[in-house]
Amino acid sequence: PNDMTALIEADRAHVWHHLSQHKAYETVDPQLIVEGKGMRIWDARGKEYLDATSGGVWTVNVGYGRTSIADAVRDQLVKLNYFAGAKGSEPGARFAQKLIEKMPGLTRVYYSNSGSEANEKAFKMVRQIAARHHGGRKWKILFRERDYHGTTFGALAACGQPQRNADYGPYPDGFVEVPHCLEYRSQYPDAESYGIAAADAIEAVILREGPDTVGALCLEPITAGGGVITPPAGYWQRVQEICTKYNVLLHIDEVVCGLGRTGAWFGYQQYGVTPDFVTMAKGLASGYAAISCTVTTEAIFDLFKSDAADPMNYFRDISTFGGCLAGPAAALENMRIIEEESLLENTQAMGLRLRDNLLALMERHAAIGEVRGCGLFYGAELVADRKTREPLAEAKVQAVVAKCMELGVIIGATNRSLPGLNNTLTLSPALIATEADIDRITDAIGQALTSVLG
Ligand code: PMP
Repeated sequence: PNDMTALIEADRAHVWHHLSQHKAYETVDPQLIVEGKGMRIWDARGKEYLDATSGGVWTVNVGYGRTSIADAVRDQLVKLNYFAGAKGSEPGARFAQKLIEKMPGLTRVYYSNSGSEANEKAFKMVRQIAARHHGGRKWKILFRERDYHGTTFGALAACGQPQRNADYGPYPDGFVEVPHCLEYRSQYPDAESYGIAAADAIEAVILREGPDTVGALCLEPITAGGGVITPPAGYWQRVQEICTKYNVLLHIDEVVCGLGRTGAWFGYQQYGVTPDFVTMAKGLASGYAAISCTVTTEAIFDLFKSDAADPMNYFRDISTFGGCLAGPAAALENMRIIEEESLLENTQAMGLRLRDNLLALMERHAAIGEVRGCGLFYGAELVADRKTREPLAEAKVQAVVAKCMELGVIIGATNRSLPGLNNTLTLSPALIATEADIDRITDAIGQALTSVLG
């Protein structure tokens, strides 16, 4: 229907929304986003918003309305839209080569369609390596409290957030949780000693489980939905040492941080880590096509290639839409834009401004307990009391988000059911943000905090 009211009604009547949108539908005006340009989006009633979330979930890294990406996708679809990923493709080969240039030490790219699927692929490779090369041992996969890896069964088995408890079980066996690394409420005197202790807690889990049973450790470089948790000093270096010591493969989930979000191509590169698997999705094609990648090393590839029992055939997956060529065509142009427009540099510069503005807000608003982040990826944790660090009630956090929306700025919040997970405002504007955009975002937050909390 052309009539927007009818369209909103059709949406209300027939679309099963993600997250808990339906709860909101009972109480607030439903919202349909119909257009986007640069940093801005418009809803069905014509209201304009500055989007500080890159499409709600850290995705539209290069901004809305990129006709060059649309053209690249169109050209590819007209030339060849699809052939199953078991064969090679022009955009697939081009993009893999370009991606690998940015990821020293890694050589192999497996295409699929979502972050969840990319993570599943890595988990399955760990299991195959255990079966063929470790006599069935080293099959366990460690994941971290507060981290998130997707919506499929394996990814949920590796979920460090309350979703794991949403009556979906039983899960596949062999997924084991390690403690989070949020320093804010820790009792350590300094970041360095906490960072080492948080990493050593992973070693303790490996020792408890038995090092010969643990195959991989899967971590977000910065925990995103679980609170924008930046790793404490010394953490990553120690994690790497532990993985090397116990021959545990390191899988970094770059679904949020990948493709420039932190001001580097990948978040792990900020911390000097050498991963065995890197997974990516969201910002990979900025939402212009569905694509994800599982990237790994030649050493891992060789384990499959040289498998005596069944060389290479063992690697049996075929994902239908992993062969859809719109994905790599869009990803290639997305990457070209990031380079040509120096968006990594812009992310670094605008990220510093965002940090400064948030720290200035913190001086005026006692509710901001801590500001954490890197590049254009920040969280402001809201507390009821700075001394006790008691989290601010979820309803108040949501009221701040709603007030910003009323002011025409869309921000996010960690919106989970457990206290301590639902009280962080999340900011992730597109990497094209200007100083004026950043200032407008933080001005709106300041106004919203005053309006909601006084
Ligand atoms: N990993 C992380 C860190 C994520 O934030 C997400 C999505 N929010 C995923 C994986 C899953 O990606 P997708 O939704 O594309 O399956």
